Amino acid sequence: MSLAAAFTLLNPGPPSTSQVLLRWERAVLTVLGHVPPQQPLARHLPEEVLEVFAAPQVLAGQSLAALQARLAEVRSLKAALPKLHRLASWWQGRFEGDLDPLSRFSAEDLRLELRQLRGIGPTLADQLTLYVFDLPVAPLESGLIRITLRHRWTDESTDDEEWQSLFRGAVHQDATSLRNFHAALSPIAKHFCTPSTPQCDNCPLASLLPAAD
Ligand code: SF4
Repeated sequence: MSLAAAFTLLNPGPPSTSQVLLRWERAVLTVLGHVPPQQPLARHLPEEVLEVFAAPQVLAGQSLAALQARLAEVRSLKAALPKLHRLASWWQGRFEGDLDPLSRFSAEDLRLELRQLRGIGPTLADQLTLYVFDLPVAPLESGLIRITLRHRWTDESTDDEEWQSLFRGAVHQDATSLRNFHAALSPIAKHFCTPSTPQCDNCPLASLLPAAD
């Protein structure tokens, strides 16, 4: 059994609403930890602060200190605000504030550029590359790695390039399939394939477990 068999088994359909959210809105949701970014930002933030996140130039045009003082009561923003401010400044410089720019990057160039922004680590950079810019990168979250290793679809010596090749190969290379596959695997990692005790009996991927040694 291969990782591609998991993609076939799960047969993930398209996310319901993510396609209609603007890229910038998806970016804000992703940094806030709502991955996949499927619901409007208004579902996650108080109405009175939404205007701050309406466009990159609005966010980037205010000092971080002033924003932190203004939004101090919104707990969900505390850790994310500096990252969002840096991302907005980068976005403003790159796309002149365009909310929904056409992608002008290769997946590899974009994920490496995003990683240069302080506070945006490899996983978040890959989530942004996949869910915001629609480029084929697998976000290597711990849950996905756990599933893949437990099924022996690869081993711990796998490097970053090999991980990407493995996931892209399982979904025939395209970003839409990769996004849908990631969206299907993430809840399995969260609800069944937990770090301490995997709940294999009820897991959708149980039929793909390797034979016991
Ligand atoms: S819980 Fe078990 S069957 Fe499910 S993904 Fe993890 S190892 Fe596989």
